[in-house]
Amino acid sequence: MKRVLYWCALISSLAVLAMLLTLWIRTASVCDKAVFRHHHGHAALLDVTNWSIESSYLGVGFLRYRSVYVNRDEVRWRTNMLSDTKDGFRWRVYDHPQFNLSTYYIRAPRRFGFSYENSSRGTAEGTGGFGSRRVLLVPHWFLVALAAVFPSFGAARLARRWRSRRRARQGLCPRCGYDLRGAPGVCPECGAAAPLPAPSPTTTDDGAMMP
Ligand SMILES: [Zn+2]
Repeated sequence: MKRVLYWCALISSLAVLAMLLTLWIRTASVCDKAVFRHHHGHAALLDVTNWSIESSYLGVGFLRYRSVYVNRDEVRWRTNMLSDTKDGFRWRVYDHPQFNLSTYYIRAPRRFGFSYENSSRGTAEGTGGFGSRRVLLVPHWFLVALAAVFPSFGAARLARRWRSRRRARQGLCPRCGYDLRGAPGVCPECGAAAPLPAPSPTTTDDGAMMP
């Protein structure tokens, strides 16, 4: 069970890593954007919330953007606009990211590619209502490094296992590689209990079958 969980975690973290690398490479030419929109309201109020994740040359942006309109004309106009597209999840690809990026307009300072902005404002003159915006910008290198931690441990573990198997096959100490062919037993170099030569169904040097 533990083994199954380990392999599930390893495979899913490799998938995440591959996806992040793909997104990162794609930022050379396009911007990918996943948006989830939800709106509700009535004749005198419209409340629109967008959650989105943007991947662009600036990094990966996590956003929540909310606009509330209370002016009747504005509500009618915006509601008509929104009726063109359904609420829910959409994936968009933009060729000219700078015109379609919320992270592009972050005014907060950027440090090592990270930035965070939480701003509230009244919407444009006469529209009533308000808007609020939360943006977290995280650089691709950071997410890739994070996603690579677990697979690296997995790879190191695998490499260690291969190495000790190879050493045991060659009659060396599996831990330190000391030559134990002359003196099987406990490794005089590191004290590891050396395994007895692995019983294998293959023939020995003199052609006799091992017991
Ligand atoms: Zn040893």
